[in-house]
Amino acid sequence: MAARDGIMADYKLLIDGALVNGDAVLGISNPATEACFAQSPIASEAQAGAAISAAKNAFASWSHESYAERTARVGKLADAIEARADDIARLLVQEQGKPLGEAAMETGAVPAFMRYLTQLDLDAAVLDDSDTRKVELHRRPLGVVACIAPWNFPLLTGWAKVAFALASGNTVVLKPAPTTPLTSLMIGALAVDIFPAGVINVITDNNDLGDYLTTHPDVAKISFTGSTVTGRKVMASAASGIKRITLELGGNDAAVVLPDVDVKAVAQQLFGCAMLNAGQVCIAVKRIYAHEDIYDELCDELAALAESAIVDDGLKQGTQIGPLQNRAQFDKVLGFIEDAGRDGTVIAGGDAIDRTGLFIRPTIVRDIAADHRLVREEQFGPVLPVVCFNDLNVALELVNGTEYGLGGSIWSADKARAYDLAKQVNSGTVWINKHLDFGPDIPVAGAKQSGLGAEFAQEGLNEFTQVQIINAAA
Ligand code: NAD
Repeated sequence: MAARDGIMADYKLLIDGALVNGDAVLGISNPATEACFAQSPIASEAQAGAAISAAKNAFASWSHESYAERTARVGKLADAIEARADDIARLLVQEQGKPLGEAAMETGAVPAFMRYLTQLDLDAAVLDDSDTRKVELHRRPLGVVACIAPWNFPLLTGWAKVAFALASGNTVVLKPAPTTPLTSLMIGALAVDIFPAGVINVITDNNDLGDYLTTHPDVAKISFTGSTVTGRKVMASAASGIKRITLELGGNDAAVVLPDVDVKAVAQQLFGCAMLNAGQVCIAVKRIYAHEDIYDELCDELAALAESAIVDDGLKQGTQIGPLQNRAQFDKVLGFIEDAGRDGTVIAGGDAIDRTGLFIRPTIVRDIAADHRLVREEQFGPVLPVVCFNDLNVALELVNGTEYGLGGSIWSADKARAYDLAKQVNSGTVWINKHLDFGPDIPVAGAKQSGLGAEFAQEGLNEFTQVQIINAAA
């Protein structure tokens, strides 16, 4: 697997323990240049079916290994990823667009999430042990899990699912997004010698295998991360077989900034949490509600940060913000900016950069109505609306008044007040004086239409299992 700049000569699907060609190929382009730099294999439905059947055949023996044995194998994959981390990170920049430092962080997070599994367990719990009965709660694996990942964090979203599914005794078919398949294929090639045939399968598509995977009768569970629109389709597909589902969907995280903050310091944090990965983060800060006393100052600080940010190819040293990942997203974000320019005041950025590649200047919009679509919808790009408020109750109503409920944050020097407000935000995560802090030990669970179920930590592991009660007469 010789690699230059992370790019392998030949990418293969992983099906039933073998690295194989796809039935078709798809050119993968670098969003910083829009030039095709590698070919990805594309699986046909027949190959997707072969992957599912390999996973089904591997299930009996894999599920009989102990939790310790399974997590030890996952740990070996973590070691293999770490040994190739530089190549994987460089490849991630080229297919996804994010700056190299961010790509290195994402690549490094995957082994950390994998190794954390050794701190969890699926031991049986004794619910009652009395004169009349002994009742135990066991957690059994489900079978074949389809893991479906988006293009914004292709490694962490995809491979954390795989690790938790495997540790709990399931076998998997992973399908990354069509514009970011290469890093997952590269890790698939590392996994081939570590796991028994069929335990992990990695297939790629041209955005056309999702329905096949999610309706297939031999898939017991779908672990999906992506948009709310696709999440609804996954839920409908799962209904046919009452399949288990975990959905991690879109977000429109609000940050509420009270007048007692250090505005300059908070602006820096908010800007970083809004513009990470060019704003293409499910739990990015996507709208700010700032108190009128600090509104002008906060807007000015954010605009200054936006104007001075270095936007360039993620492989160039010093780049802070890379390109948008794909042209469809680039066009969508420019549409948001155009509308916001008509209805609000653009105080930084406001257009694409006149060069090759999918670059948009970080954009700050003020004086925008609270019901504008840039505020209500998920923009998923480097454009941040700042709304002014003077009544905290009204601000909280606006924060909670969307279909989304992934994350949110309260910013105040008064920690007790912030804590009280945090409890009133209807989202799966609420941060206080920070945003975007997550890890393998903290469950992520979207409220409302941001998701269903939880990922990570013991809660996330449990979701890959079925409760079985053994209730014996004494
Ligand atoms: P998307 O929904 O377009 O695609 C996600 C995946 O679903 C891709 O692999 C795609 O090929 C596949 N897919 C397409 N049609 C399908 C179908 N009918 N059935 C099953 N799978 C299908 O999402 P995207 O544009 O790749 O990702 C961006 C979205 O993901 C944003 O909304 C973002 O907020 C969300 N996201 C959420 C989280 C979270 O943890 N909540 C994390 C990352 C991204």
